[in-house]
Amino acid sequence: MKTSLFLLSLVSIVSTACAEDKQPAKSDQVMTQPKIDLPESEWKKRLTDEQYRVTRTAGTERPNGAEYEKFNKQGDGIYYCVCCGLELFTSNEKFHSGCGWPSFYDQSKANNVKETADPDGHRVEVTCKRCDAHLGHVFDGEGFKTPTNRRFCINGVALNHVPAGGPAPKLLELGSAEVEKKKEEVAKEAGVEVKKP
Ligand SMILES: [Zn+2]
Repeated sequence: MKTSLFLLSLVSIVSTACAEDKQPAKSDQVMTQPKIDLPESEWKKRLTDEQYRVTRTAGTERPNGAEYEKFNKQGDGIYYCVCCGLELFTSNEKFHSGCGWPSFYDQSKANNVKETADPDGHRVEVTCKRCDAHLGHVFDGEGFKTPTNRRFCINGVALNHVPAGGPAPKLLELGSAEVEKKKEEVAKEAGVEVKKP
């Protein structure tokens, strides 16, 4: 009886937490991982200048550039966030749109991509749910003959492609006191006890 009561309260806590987010994450990765929020100086150290410009300052890479060429040559595999290592897209949803940037008709089943309408209502920005990296934009109803008729127009520099069967990149984990504190806060909210290493 005690166990079922505990489970019941845990479920209600978790569903309350989800209700605050309009698009609740389905991935376990996201549900159990705190968001990564680094100072700009840290991101600058970790990323190349172009990765930083695109992902952390909402920049856009040159169309039909080197990243796009690389993308077109890539075979089956998974695309991870270049900043934090979270799964974002897979080659299953990749398609040729002719726009000059990597295109997907949907995000990966991990559901780690967040969509936010620009304040002017013209475009919908897509970002990484865990580290808020700017990835690109998503456009609806352009007439593409894909299962969704959506085009996730993504900067190749924001993605880390791992060929099918290859090892997933390590999720960005920082040992800093700040990150540990955040982890504890998140765990406390979810009613889970954190084991210290
Ligand atoms: Zn990320």
